[in-house]
Amino acid sequence: MIPFLDLKSINNRYRSQLLEAVAKVIDSGSYIKGREVEEFEREFAAYCGTKRAVGVANGLDALRLILRAYIEQGVMNEGDEIIVPANTYIATILAVTENRLVPVLVEPALGTFNIDIDRIEEKLTNRTKAILIVHLYGRIAYAPRLKNLAQKHGLKIIEDAAQSHGAAFEGKRSGSLGDAAGFSFYPGKNLGALGDAGAVTTNDAQLAELVSALGNYGSREKYCNLYKGLNSRLDELQAAVLRVKLPYLDEENERRREIARVYLDGIRNPLIYLPQWNRGTSHVWHLFIVRCAKRDRLAAHLKEEGIGTLIHYPIPPHQQKAYAEWNANSYPVTEEIHQTVLSLPLDISMDDEDVARIVEACNRFQF
Ligand SMILES: *Cc1c(COP(=O)(O)O)cnc(C)c1O
Repeated sequence: MIPFLDLKSINNRYRSQLLEAVAKVIDSGSYIKGREVEEFEREFAAYCGTKRAVGVANGLDALRLILRAYIEQGVMNEGDEIIVPANTYIATILAVTENRLVPVLVEPALGTFNIDIDRIEEKLTNRTKAILIVHLYGRIAYAPRLKNLAQKHGLKIIEDAAQSHGAAFEGKRSGSLGDAAGFSFYPGKNLGALGDAGAVTTNDAQLAELVSALGNYGSREKYCNLYKGLNSRLDELQAAVLRVKLPYLDEENERRREIARVYLDGIRNPLIYLPQWNRGTSHVWHLFIVRCAKRDRLAAHLKEEGIGTLIHYPIPPHQQKAYAEWNANSYPVTEEIHQTVLSLPLDISMDDEDVARIVEACNRFQF
């Protein structure tokens, strides 16, 4: 059986270093707001090419805290609108509604799964304050014409970089392409902790300070509360784990690209639509998504061949019960995507033989 994702074997590669890092934290006696977090923040900011990185508890909080900080600064107010892709993972949208801001859904492009930049302008109103792009599945959603659009209308660009650690546009890494970015280090992400973890990156030092205070009960100085904050901190253990794994991120992303190349070159089945990839561009393949009109039958076929798959995601946000107010709305491209996508294993611990077996199994699929 080739599982969809074998996290145990991925982390086992770093077992001795991880054990050493964890032991160091235990021995330090400092478990929250200590040296590991400080060092990781410095290292991750350097990796992304930003002035600052602020560790937080998870990816949802990273996005929530960015928006909350803009509200504290008066840049945004309750009821203001934030442009988001209609096919994103629910967390992007939760971060907006949690702050009493209004998500305005924009359809993605079918070829890239990313927000269709040409369809943003028609959705702008005088309440629009930001475009929250999502580098979905590891593919950069940024383009210079997005920046022009944001500048023309005075909008912030916020990146949901939860799936794009290390991806870059013309040499600039995700996390450094907009005004602020939220990262998740959920175990299955390209850079994964051994639990929940997240970070905000930005070149705006004031914003970084505000996010840091808001995630620490709204205080900079112990027992002195400047804002009605929350508790959303990266802890020392997870920071130590991330410090072990960060130096291997580029190597792991390269292995992801290698596997993607084998899929793209090897899968030849008119029933399976492969994702587009302009090979000159950076893509970190958080997920390898194919589309198939008979998606469930393809999944069943691969299961029979001993290959695990998943669906990212089966229900689009506007059809979720949590957003009942949108259930009657129609987003045809998004719906098409959710009805047809299937994620093949893209696990860096697979060997070439596993990858070849998956290609062959895909090529044997017929209705
Ligand atoms: C994983 C993910 C998040 C949320 O991250 P958590 O750490 O699970 O809170 C947000 N956005 C996207 C696109 C994600 O994939």
